[in-house]
Amino acid sequence: MNKNLELMVSLQGTDREIAKIDELLERLPSEIENFAASLNTAKAEYEEYKKKLEDARKLRQQKEKDVEATEEAIRKANAKLHEIKTNQEYTAAIKETDNMKTAISKLEDEQLEIMENLEKSMKDEGEYKEKVAKEEKEFALIKAEKEAEIDTIKAEKESLVVFRNETVSLLEKSYLDKYEKLATARDGIAISKLKEGYCEECHTTVRKQMAVEIRVGEKVHHCPQCTRFLYSPATEKV
Ligand SMILES: [Zn+2]
Repeated sequence: MNKNLELMVSLQGTDREIAKIDELLERLPSEIENFAASLNTAKAEYEEYKKKLEDARKLRQQKEKDVEATEEAIRKANAKLHEIKTNQEYTAAIKETDNMKTAISKLEDEQLEIMENLEKSMKDEGEYKEKVAKEEKEFALIKAEKEAEIDTIKAEKESLVVFRNETVSLLEKSYLDKYEKLATARDGIAISKLKEGYCEECHTTVRKQMAVEIRVGEKVHHCPQCTRFLYSPATEKV
């Protein structure tokens, strides 16, 4: 086969492999992020749990303050009892104090309920923590595995690039320029196989005479439709 054609066939093979690797290198980091989903869920659940505890604590403190304020109000009301002149006013004042005492008792019940729930909830903390730790461990393993995979294919790419440079250095400049132009314009594929008389990339049938010459492999031809270089694998052994 024509030396330049042969080099371009090799170059195309290398470029296809490099393209596959580039695609993987683009995809793998987001795959790693996908694996973080269950860890993120576990973390979010733990945060939500902690926030609920904190809210319950604040509510309990508020109830405590309400009790203190009501007790203060009772003390003040009691201190003014002797100033009351009529029976009617006195009865009303006593009724108001009783109402406040009932309110205190209700607030204390509520406080107690909150505390009981808090104590129960606090027992769950270990479970949440454990879940997060377990997910963290699993994610770290997957991440390390994927990162090792990335390192391996990066190394593969480096050696492919070295090989590509060697091939390029042997290829005549005018062919290299055309190859690069075609590759850019045609989805990275600059050279196509002639398969049973047609271009494998765009399926256009080529003239008989041209097909014969392509099989011989000495003259360099382009596909009449997609303009890619054409070669025949049959000539590889010639
Ligand atoms: Zn074609």
